[in-house]
Amino acid sequence: MTLTETAPLEKAPLERYVAPEKPSLVGLTRAQLAAVLGAVGVPESQRKMRVQQLWHWIYFRGFSEFAQMSSLSKELRAKLAENFTLARPEVVAEQVSVDGTRKWLLRLPGEIQGERPHEVECVYIPDTERGTLCVSSQVGCTLTCSFCHTGTQRLVRNLTPGEIVGQVMVARDRLGDYAGTERAQGAGLPTGGDRCISNIVMMGMGEPLYNFEAVRDALLIVADNEGIGISKRRITLSTSGVVPNIQRAGDEIGVMLAISLHAVRDELRNDLVPLNRKYPIAALLDACRNYPGLTNAKRITFEYVMLKDVNDSLADAKALIKLLKGIPAKINLIPFNPWPGSQYECSDWEQIEKFSEYIFNAGYSSPVRTPRGRDILAACGQLKSETEKLTARERMALRAMAMTD
Ligand code: SAH
Ligand code: SF4
Repeated sequence: MTLTETAPLEKAPLERYVAPEKPSLVGLTRAQLAAVLGAVGVPESQRKMRVQQLWHWIYFRGFSEFAQMSSLSKELRAKLAENFTLARPEVVAEQVSVDGTRKWLLRLPGEIQGERPHEVECVYIPDTERGTLCVSSQVGCTLTCSFCHTGTQRLVRNLTPGEIVGQVMVARDRLGDYAGTERAQGAGLPTGGDRCISNIVMMGMGEPLYNFEAVRDALLIVADNEGIGISKRRITLSTSGVVPNIQRAGDEIGVMLAISLHAVRDELRNDLVPLNRKYPIAALLDACRNYPGLTNAKRITFEYVMLKDVNDSLADAKALIKLLKGIPAKINLIPFNPWPGSQYECSDWEQIEKFSEYIFNAGYSSPVRTPRGRDILAACGQLKSETEKLTARERMALRAMAMTD
């Protein structure tokens, strides 16, 4: 079958973002902050220093009012407040799981009047020594992976850098994760380490490499060590395989890369990840081999969703190992998370174990991504609404997995 005869590969994104009347400075780069300062009359000779100060207050201390910025003159604070805000995305709901997982539902502006607002979720998954924040790059996704709930959503809009950095800021606000603020207390939060959020994964809604510039600008802000300061080694960008932007991601962002592989044959991957029809497995793996900065210490993670009787045979495991030969790689097995109307089932737990053992014996550590926050239905890469119920099979698989936690 040729490309034109098959179902559409992608949906068209809406570009409906309308900046609020008073824009937020959250998400602006240093150069953009300098321009803002110029616009409110700060002379060029002072701008660099003022940008440093703003940067510190906005990203290092997490201030949300200009009035708190003691190193800026009263006059400048007033001028900034007249024209700008430090607003983050609006939090419409917060849920805290018994295991400490937290989920925030965020409402985003820029809607055509009368239309339902856009919403994205952001999930925090704590562990004893670290905490991972799962961040979205788009409302919905233009791609149509057959096992992914996000892929079925009709509306797609790119998030702005401010909305991407804003997710990190919201989470840090709520967790008290800024210097000089009181850290949140509660079950499951990390007790070690000096911060609640130590890692970021771009594994929420959307395809980050289809919103390249915004994701790049946002991640460079998040990694800047005079601000939020989460090192690039602790930021992972997951892509379904937008080959032309993989090299760019390495060159221009330099974070860790995860590839949603999910199948070892083009025929099957065309079904699961239809983008494969455009960028087949061989081209994808070539881009991986050439990923800038790839070494044994900086491996690519290959994600593999476990779908019962679809991609979970030992022959698949064998082919997977063969395929990844020569690429410094980690393999992340993800138990499929069913959603109403999904056409797949999660592999049986015994099969996941067999698959994982094969991979382990081939020399790869093969962690199975442990589902967390089940009571609030928060799953990284598969954010779903509270009304959906878990199937009996899913509950069983999850219980089994919880035991390996
Ligand atoms: N669009 C990017 C990042 C977001 S999805 C990507 O596809 O990589 C993050 C991960 O969750 C991907 O590996 C994706 O394939 C996986 N995922 C999506 N739906 C899932 C489901 N129902 N169960 C398990 N994993 C899923
Ligand atoms: Fe989009 Fe990733 Fe879901 Fe595929 S798996 S539809 S690329 S969010």
